[in-house]
This record gives sequence, structure tokens and C-alpha cells, in this order.
Amino acid sequence: MAGWSEKVLEIDLSTQTYKTYPLDMDMARLYIGGRGLGARLLWDLVGPGVDPLSPENVLIFTNGPLTGTGYQTSNRFSVTTKSPLTGTILDANSGGFWGMQFRKTGYDVMIVRGKSDKPVWIEIKNAAITFHDASDLWGMRVFALTEKLGQNNNKRNVLCIGPAGENLSRIAAIMNDRERALARGGPGAVMGSKNLKAIVVEGKDRPEIVDKDQFKFLLYEARKSLAQSPLTSQALPEFGTVVLMNIMNNVGALATRNHQQTQFEGAEAISGEELTDNYLVRNASCWACPIGCTRISRTEKVEGEGPEFESTWAFGAQCGIADLPAIIEANALCNDLGLDTISVGSTIACAMELSEKNFMDSELRFGRADQLAPTIEAIATRSDIGADLADGSLRLATKYGHPELSMSSKGLEMPAYDPRGMQGQGLLYATSNRGGCHMRGNMVGPEVLGAPKLIDRFQVQGKSSFVILHQNTAAAIDSLVLCKFTNYGVAEEYFARVLSAVTGIKYSTGDMIKVGERVWNLERLYNLREGFTNKDDTLPPRLLNEAPTDGPSKGWVVQLEPMLKEYYRGRGWDENGIPTKKKLAELDLEVLL
Ligand code: SF4
Repeated sequence: MAGWSEKVLEIDLSTQTYKTYPLDMDMARLYIGGRGLGARLLWDLVGPGVDPLSPENVLIFTNGPLTGTGYQTSNRFSVTTKSPLTGTILDANSGGFWGMQFRKTGYDVMIVRGKSDKPVWIEIKNAAITFHDASDLWGMRVFALTEKLGQNNNKRNVLCIGPAGENLSRIAAIMNDRERALARGGPGAVMGSKNLKAIVVEGKDRPEIVDKDQFKFLLYEARKSLAQSPLTSQALPEFGTVVLMNIMNNVGALATRNHQQTQFEGAEAISGEELTDNYLVRNASCWACPIGCTRISRTEKVEGEGPEFESTWAFGAQCGIADLPAIIEANALCNDLGLDTISVGSTIACAMELSEKNFMDSELRFGRADQLAPTIEAIATRSDIGADLADGSLRLATKYGHPELSMSSKGLEMPAYDPRGMQGQGLLYATSNRGGCHMRGNMVGPEVLGAPKLIDRFQVQGKSSFVILHQNTAAAIDSLVLCKFTNYGVAEEYFARVLSAVTGIKYSTGDMIKVGERVWNLERLYNLREGFTNKDDTLPPRLLNEAPTDGPSKGWVVQLEPMLKEYYRGRGWDENGIPTKKKLAELDLEVLL
């Protein structure tokens, strides 16, 4: 059947063997690919109570039916696993080139299980799999390793971990194509726990498309829409995602100094405009992307991709630092060591607050740009202060007796948007299945940017319906797997139409949203099975009780409780946040229980 390659590759690192078998096509129709298919497979493969860093956990790499077809942003892929940071279900996705190349090897899914008794790297050339000894690569950083293993953007692509993953930091990323990251929730530590240093892919299979004429037409139409949207044709290409820095600061929703304030006096100095004027070398893009939000920037010490908005914020406003070169260098260092920039920045900010309040004995202080690089090095190697910070802010703050100072939800550090200035964003963080995250749906569009339409960001009543729609849409896009920025320029109906053209199966917009809802509910079931409850749908006390004393969000805290009640009802769950039998039947999920 066109659309899927219909093949699963399963690798057992304990025995260094592999097998291939057909993809369950009924499952594929229901969950499409990427995040959805990964979640469905994880449900069967990793049962309750499994230690995420044990050989019983798995890494499930998935692409989707659109991957590698050339449709706008069809470069992405996912990894699904049980998170060592949060204990929740985790999927992280990444752009670049690796996902397209992985699809060309002829597999929809690669499951990696077990644990090698010594460091190993895997080479997949078309259908052939080779295990290589990686003893001499263990300890290498990401940039040098990527080059050594032969990265060649369109022909051979490298995915690997750096020292942070090897040292089982629970905020370690898996890196691909040198500077792209499967960042959140610690998948790099899972890879490290398996003694797996890298996966290199080379392929030649071209994905099949059923209705080529319709596909070409939709490609043309989508390109036209992206060119007409100010966000995808001007803001993102001209300033990258850091364009959001001044915007979020102006509305009083830029988390600052570990969320102690909602505006940063140094925002202008770390803005997209400043980055473009003084540090930008050129723009770049992932494979098959006409938007090109990627920035190549340069300081006296480094040149490379980024930093994106969230990384600039994490080392900037969140740490009270207005030194853009130091932020660019901190971002590059995290990429080279294989670390999640959001969690690293927010964990350092948490340590700064703990230290300033004398809860922790360290020299870390807000505003100290010179402390960034040595602290990041220490995290990746678990040395000195890094031993405390390597497992994220919640474990750190708990150790020092103040868990409330971790700006996380379900243990995952939240990104830049302070929800006291965006009520919907607060609900979104609290209910996100992988913890505090802006990629499980993002209310910045409707609450701040007016995309597709501006709504009152402080309004509470009725907000849950927007959040639910955005969460379901995000889950559908993640299952295709496309870049969410396309959603700023291309209407949702295109996703269903292009999927129909590629697969020959008729999908409507309603079907796509239902896929998203199915995935969301399945992830919820997974977390419930792991022992999470409605008590975990919450936010740090600071966001619920401490209102900013000045700025546009003055006087506001997140009104979580009424929004949550409405949210559970809107989701068709009971008052404890448990999906009802009726809802599960509607989504073809009752068979799992
Ligand atoms: S918009 Fe940016 S992140 Fe998304 S595919 Fe394009 S270059 Fe990559």
C-alpha cells in the first residue's frame, strides 16, 4: 500500500540481532505514523513499572506516510519511549534530514530494545543492518562524531548521543544531523543506557504516492499559502523563532528569573532583531522546507545552528542573562554535549534561585553569563555541581527541600511562555501528557499572535475548548509527521487532503482531528496505567498563587481549577480525569483495556 513502506525493523542490542516484519496496517490507518504509531506500539511493548533506564525500555523511531515525499516540511521523525525524566510516555520529534533518509531505508518503524554489553553503533544501508564496535567513539562529542561517521545531508545521516546521554543525564537529548535534537524528556539517557552511541542511515527507496497529480497540486497550493502568511513568509524566515522574544516580553508573558517575573529588562538585547543584526551568518532550513526558520549564527568562539527562541529564553530571561554571545555559545555547547536546552537553562535558573535564597550552597547567581558554559559542561559529565543538576530541576529542588522552585509540570521544565499572562497556555502545560511543553499544542497563536484569530488571553471560561482543539491538532500533525510551523500558513484541511493523495485512503479533516484525539487519549491511558492521576495535572505553586506585581499581567495567576473542570468535561472524561468507556469506544480504544 502506498503511503507506508509496511515494514518494521526490530533490533535487539542484547544479542546484536535484528528481525523485520510487516507493519500492522489496521494500526497504521488508525494512528498514521510518528507520535501516534509510536504511542500505540509503546502501549504493548513497555508495561507499567518498567525502569526507563533499564533494558526493558525501548526506543521506537517512526516516520510517517508523508515523510520523504517532498511535501512541505516532510522531513521530521519521532522517537517514543518511557521518559527517564518524568516517568510519563514520551515522544520527541526532530527535523533536519535524518527522518527523510530513514524513510528511504524502507522502514516505517525501528524498535530498539535490550542493552549491548559494550558501546555499539548501528549502520543501516538500505535494508542491510551492521553493528559496529563504538568503544573508541564513547566519550566523543556530537559535532566531531557526526563528521567522523560521514554526515552528508542528502545521502548519509547521523543520529547520536553526546557525553550527556552516556552519563545518563535525564535531560540528555538525542541529536541528529549535528544540531537537530530529539530533546525533551531525556531520550538521550535511554539511548545511553543501552550503550548505543549512534545510528547512521543511508537509503534509496523513494516513497510511493498514489495520486501524483493531486499531490503536485496540493504541494503548489500549500507553497502559495505559506508565501502569503506573514508568519511563514516574513517573521520566521527573517528573524527565526526568536522573533517571539520582544512580542512575549511586551505582553508580560516572558518567564524571567525562574518565573519570578513576567518581563525581562534585557529582552531587547537578546531579541531576534539583535540576533539578525549582529550575529546572523545566513538562514538555513530542514529538508523540503520553504519556510527556513533556521539561523546560522556566529560569535568569536562558535558558528552553528540556532539559537531558537526557547534556547535563547532559557539561557537568557530565565537566567536573567542579557548577553547574546554567551547564550549562542551555551546553545552550541548543549548541542555538542547532547543536552535539552530548555531543561538545562531552566534547571540552572532553579539552582540560581536556590543559591540566592541560601537553600543551596553554590556560587550560581542570576545574570552571571560567565557561569553558563562551565555549568553546562559539569551537567554533561555529572561532575561538581553538575551531579546535582544533571537530572533536571525537580530532582534538584527536591533534594534541597524546595520542590516548589522547579518550574516544571509532571517534572518537565516548562518553556518561555509564562501562563499567568496566557491562561490557556497554563491549562495546556498542566494537561500535557509529556509534562510542561509548548509543542503539545500552543496557545501563543490564538492568545498572542492572533493566528488564526485573536482570543482574550486572560479569559478562563470557554478556554478549554481551544486547548483541546490545539492539542488534538498537534497530535495529528505529530503523527503525520510534519513541522507545526506549517500550521501558521496552511489550513488544516490540507493535511487530510495530502494524506489522502499519498495513501489513496480517504481522510477528512474530521478524521485527522479524531486521530489526534485518539492519540491524546491513548497517551492519557498510558500515564494512568503508570499511576499518574488528576493530581498531576497541575503547575508550580508560584504560577497558581503569586501574581506579578507589575506589567501587563499584573495581578494575574493561572485560574487552573475552573479550566480543568471544563477541560475534563470537554474531553469526555469523568471528574477525575479518566476517559469514560463511551469516549474510549468512540475512539476505538476500548479494546486496549
Ligand atoms: S519551519 Fe524551521 S523547524 Fe520547521 S521544517 Fe522548516 S526549517 Fe525546519
